[in-house]
Amino acid sequence: DRIPLKRALISVSDKAGLIEFARALSARGVELLSTGGTAKALREAGLTVRDVADVTGFPEMMDGRVKTLHPAVHGGLLALRDNAEHMAAAASHDIGMIDLLVVNLYPFEETVAKGASYDDCIENIDIGGPAMIRAASKNHAFVTVVVDVQDYPAVLAELDANDDATSYAFRQRQAQIAYARTAAYDAAVSGWMAQAIGDEMPRRRSFSGTLAQPLRYGENPHQAAAFYRDGSVRPGVATARQWQGKELSYNNINDTDAAFELVAEFDPAQGPAVAIIKHANPCGVARGATAIDAYRRAYDCDRTSAFGGIVALNTALDAETARAITEIFTEVVIAPEASDEAREIFAAKKNLRLLTTGGLPDAAAPGLAFRQVAGGFLVQGRDNGHVSRADLKVVTQRQPTAEELEDLLFAWTVAKHVKSNAIVYARDMATVGIGAGQMSRVDSTRIGKRKSEDMAEALGLAQALTIGSSVASDAFFPFADGVEALAAAGAKAVIQPGGSMRDAEVIAAADRLGLAMVFTGQRHFRH
Ligand code: 5GP
Repeated sequence: DRIPLKRALISVSDKAGLIEFARALSARGVELLSTGGTAKALREAGLTVRDVADVTGFPEMMDGRVKTLHPAVHGGLLALRDNAEHMAAAASHDIGMIDLLVVNLYPFEETVAKGASYDDCIENIDIGGPAMIRAASKNHAFVTVVVDVQDYPAVLAELDANDDATSYAFRQRQAQIAYARTAAYDAAVSGWMAQAIGDEMPRRRSFSGTLAQPLRYGENPHQAAAFYRDGSVRPGVATARQWQGKELSYNNINDTDAAFELVAEFDPAQGPAVAIIKHANPCGVARGATAIDAYRRAYDCDRTSAFGGIVALNTALDAETARAITEIFTEVVIAPEASDEAREIFAAKKNLRLLTTGGLPDAAAPGLAFRQVAGGFLVQGRDNGHVSRADLKVVTQRQPTAEELEDLLFAWTVAKHVKSNAIVYARDMATVGIGAGQMSRVDSTRIGKRKSEDMAEALGLAQALTIGSSVASDAFFPFADGVEALAAAGAKAVIQPGGSMRDAEVIAAADRLGLAMVFTGQRHFRH
């Protein structure tokens, strides 16, 4: 099953590592065929190369749309070497065999990411490249295909190990990788077109990603895992720069994403916001006059859970906040930027991972969210819902005060990022009790209260901070008992979507208990 390499066709947009690789092939006696720009680069490096145009008898034409789309190329890639008819056809049409295909495609994804015009993106849809890749891959019984500059060393190592030939196993693996590339490429084109049409929702779309990083394991050590990128340039965990610390784990990536997406809800022009995440839920979120103020107040919501957590800031990480963060064990810190001094402080903590994103994502931006179920996956628009003051409807006799309104909107925004059933108690733009992920809404209200009481005891406060707090509920109260539980916790104002069959009962209970209540008309389930 070993196939010696006699001829290679090289046609690459990304010319990184090209010369070294081509030189190594040439030194092994491989004849080089190439398209315009690639041939030029090879010749300039002093290599002998034959133009594809010379093989096809046609010049490259129509702005490069037609370069390699010719039987002289595709016959050389697709012919079965052990089939007499195929080889006779090749001989009668003077088609030479191509044993190695090295192609990387027009940078369609990068062109889209740059925000290029529609026509520019169209021109960057590679046609001949995918056609050749698919042809060579189909014929992996005889042909070796390479679609990624990262694989050049592996090809040379394979040739070294096999007397300048490749093994079947190697060619098969390369073909499998190649089909992943063309599938991802076409999915990117289809996704971009859906966006251009203004219909991102899954009407016969296909989804794909590119391996960014194999992970040591998944949610648990016995699960294999990897991180795939979807080509988005949204600032966040996928595009962040890691300055220090161990490689991110599966759970780290998930939690870091949750943390950063949450703080991105808060406009940094209105002051820093900090979120601390554990197991995908916030255990403390606060806004503050300064980053350290926000951090300390977020930390004070639930100091116990914050240990080993993930911290996100919506503003630059400064030295004093960095110092405060290092007072306890923290897994990951993510922020748009970090000062030199902050980075020096973290440098002493080898295990702490620091990520900077260069900016904040737009929380209101559209996009898609995925979830897997047995036999398929669910796709929906990302939850970019937002309510502002004008959307709120006061339904109780008592109006919320100006401060309560601020806290209600703050708590509501946090609740959007808490697993359902979510109950978030807030005071002075800081969470003071969070109940997450319960099957009963009443239980979430009780858990938030109890956590706040524990914290009050730990901090030596006279009473739990839920007393006098404003509370958000991610979905409506089906019965009056939830509101009664909030009143028992000392809450004074409530924000919730409304829309229950028993809204009248719920409102009556709020009135009876002296609570102010506002409806948003929008729900934020998160599971
Ligand atoms: P070069 O820089 O060598 O002029 O062009 C290399 C690029 O052209 C590669 O990305 C390759 O995939 C692409 N390519 C090769 N043949 C064709 C073709 O026939 N049509 C189009 N549109 N692109 C091609």
